Amino acid sequence: MIVEKLVVGPFASNCYIVGSQSNKGGMIIDPGDEAKQILKRVKDLELDIKFILLTHGHIDHTGALKEVKEATGAEVVIHGDDAKSLKNQLVAVAFGLSYPTPPPPDRLLKDGESLDIGDLHFEVVHTPGHTPGGVCLLGEGVVFSGDTLFNYGIGRTDLPGGSSSQLMNSIQTRLMTLPDNTVVYPGHGAATTIGAERTGNPFLRG
Ligand SMILES: [Zn+2]
Ligand SMILES: [Zn+2]
Repeated sequence: MIVEKLVVGPFASNCYIVGSQSNKGGMIIDPGDEAKQILKRVKDLELDIKFILLTHGHIDHTGALKEVKEATGAEVVIHGDDAKSLKNQLVAVAFGLSYPTPPPPDRLLKDGESLDIGDLHFEVVHTPGHTPGGVCLLGEGVVFSGDTLFNYGIGRTDLPGGSSSQLMNSIQTRLMTLPDNTVVYPGHGAATTIGAERTGNPFLRG
C-alpha cells in the first residue's frame, strides 16, 4: 500500500494520498489546501483516484476540495452529520480564510460502510466528538484518525458541534479497542500507533 503524507495550509493539516501498488487505484484523504501540490503528487504516483474522503467538514481538511474534485472527478464522501458544514464554513470566516465553495458530496457515509480501492479494504468508523460527523478510516493495519486522535493528543471539542464526552467515548470504544500495532495517521502531526497512545497519551490516562 502507498501512503503519502503532504502537510498543507496554514493549519499544517495532513493530506494523505493512499494507493494500491498493484492496480494503481487511489484515494485522497482531506485535501485541506495546496491543490496543485496534491495533484502533482497524484500524477507522479500515477494513481487513479476513486474517492476523496473527508474525515470531517472543517476547512483545514476541505479547502482544496473544489480543485481536487474537478481535476480527478473522484467521488467525494463524508459522513452525513458533517455534510452541512461543507457549505457553512463559519470557522473559515472566523479565521479570516476564504476558499472556493466546495462541491456537494457525492455520497454520505455511515458507520461500518466499506470503502475499497482494488485490493485495499477499508471500513468507515464514525467517531463523533471533534465534530458530529467525524470519521476514521480503518483497514490494512492502519487507521486514518482525522482530528479525533493525534500523536499524544486528542481533537479539540470547543468548536461548534464538539463534545468532549463523545470524543472520549469514540476514542475509547472505537480506537483503543484496535490492536497495539495499528498505525495511526492523524489529521495533524506525526504518525503513531494505537499501542503508543494507549500507554503514553496523557489525555487517555486515568
Ligand atoms: Zn477539525
Ligand atoms: Zn484539523
